[in-house]
Amino acid sequence: MEKERLSANEDCHASLGIDDLSAFRLLTNSVFLPVNEAPGRVMSNDNLYAVFSERFVETDTFIRSPDGSDLYSYADLDHYSAVYADRLKVLGAVPGDRIMVQMEKSSSCLFLYFACLRGGFVYLPLNTAYQPEELAYFAENAEPAVVVTSPLQKPVFEGFAQCPVETLDPEGHGSFSDQLPDSATGEIVSRSYDDLAAILYTSGTTGKPKGAMLSHGNLTSNAKTLHALWGFVPGDVLLHALPIFHVHGLFVATNVAVFNGSTLLFFNKFDAASVVNALPTASVYMGVPTNYTRMLSEPSLDRSSCANMRLFISGSAPLLTQTFRDFETRTDHTILERYGMTETGMNTSNPLVGVRKPGTVGPPLPGVDIRIVDDSNQTVTDGETGNLLVTGPNVFSGYWRMPEKNLQEFSDGYFRTGDLASRDEDGYISIVGRSKDLIITGGLNVYPKEVESVIDRMEGVNESAVIGVPHADFGEAVTAVVVLDDGSSISENDVVAHLKSTLANFKVAKQVHFVNELPRNAMGKVQKNLLRDEYDTGVR
Ligand code: AMP
Repeated sequence: MEKERLSANEDCHASLGIDDLSAFRLLTNSVFLPVNEAPGRVMSNDNLYAVFSERFVETDTFIRSPDGSDLYSYADLDHYSAVYADRLKVLGAVPGDRIMVQMEKSSSCLFLYFACLRGGFVYLPLNTAYQPEELAYFAENAEPAVVVTSPLQKPVFEGFAQCPVETLDPEGHGSFSDQLPDSATGEIVSRSYDDLAAILYTSGTTGKPKGAMLSHGNLTSNAKTLHALWGFVPGDVLLHALPIFHVHGLFVATNVAVFNGSTLLFFNKFDAASVVNALPTASVYMGVPTNYTRMLSEPSLDRSSCANMRLFISGSAPLLTQTFRDFETRTDHTILERYGMTETGMNTSNPLVGVRKPGTVGPPLPGVDIRIVDDSNQTVTDGETGNLLVTGPNVFSGYWRMPEKNLQEFSDGYFRTGDLASRDEDGYISIVGRSKDLIITGGLNVYPKEVESVIDRMEGVNESAVIGVPHADFGEAVTAVVVLDDGSSISENDVVAHLKSTLANFKVAKQVHFVNELPRNAMGKVQKNLLRDEYDTGVR
């Protein structure tokens, strides 16, 4: 693939304080107008790519490598998305068809995503960690028209796929790109707000993964809202070190940055030292909490390395208050925590201007409504924990080919997220955990996060995870899995004594296990199902 070198855009590195509130308001006002009502503009195509292409400047840099060289311009994005879309057509795909992609993170993978948008195909990215049996399930369930994958994975897909299997490597080489058309039609296929743009499989811990169907409207509304809410300004440079098979790296980080016409400082994977090293050349960072704890272990993370940054955003898993505070002390930046999920995109966010409260994920986004209800669907009072329900233009239409599941998961137009949450007097939401992680011991509810917070506050404790394991008397027993700081000599008795002095007895852990680290998935979420399997040995 030809790479076009661009001259460095010096403006990108200008200081980007959000003091310029008039610019922010201007952006906000224009951005919250429905697309068709934007002044002086008639839009007949709700294809997200049409929205993007109206906003980016072709000569601006789209992808910059970590070493600072400009790899692709927005003109390149336009070119490759067009020829890739035409290539998919030649391979037999028609609008609405699923294009299944399992590739390493790379620019060529991004071009394929944009090609699917502009061609009206449904982009279906898969985690590179998925194994053949899982892949066979996805192929059978989604019936893709084309699979694009690495040369190594091609024979795996050919074992079960009923469609062409093409190869594309991170450098853009492979059977998919070897036969690109010389010139592209450049068509942006007409799509409505409700037409499908992507299917993302959620990594359910029980049952088969479910394909969340996201429309062009879902993705467009979230990109616009977050772009305005987080005060993106011309020249913002996003340091992108997240995977792009997941909602966070693809629809939050990439879509918002492209909606802004920003340069992506593009890391193929997260590496704390390299990321900290590159912060002076970026202005916005989006990461999962473990990215932040790893950055904190880099001595070079300090005020001066973050001097050009205007915003650090965290999500996908709970950010510990300790991490929030440590980061603030070291860098003078308060991390902005937001909350969302594959099925809904983003739902809530701490404010850009205003108080960012640690341990909360902020109020609902504009246009998003959240209800917190008890098991009889009655709204709970502020401060009480209940099930989080959400509705808004960002919320998906349902799971692919699962009509019964969709009936269960939606009620009165609200989607049941499966998260437990509470709302404070200022309207800020706190996520307490997944409802399936709730522990019921002797008929009483124990919210793991409450117990974890108490353990985490102990001097010498790094972090903890609290789970329920089967217990003959109580049904479930509260069990703590604890990671200690280096050199700490805390014992099981110490943890239990500390819990007893702080919490009601039924919340106190009946067993404490010490481990070197908690099992986490690619997005930094603690895999409590693995801990439950590991410690399901019966509790005395
Ligand atoms: P996923 O679909 O992989 O993005 O996972 C979504 C789930 O991650 C949500 O339902 C929450 O349980 C969790 N999650 C996302 N963001 C946060 C956050 N800021 N704090 C706590 N949990 C979060």
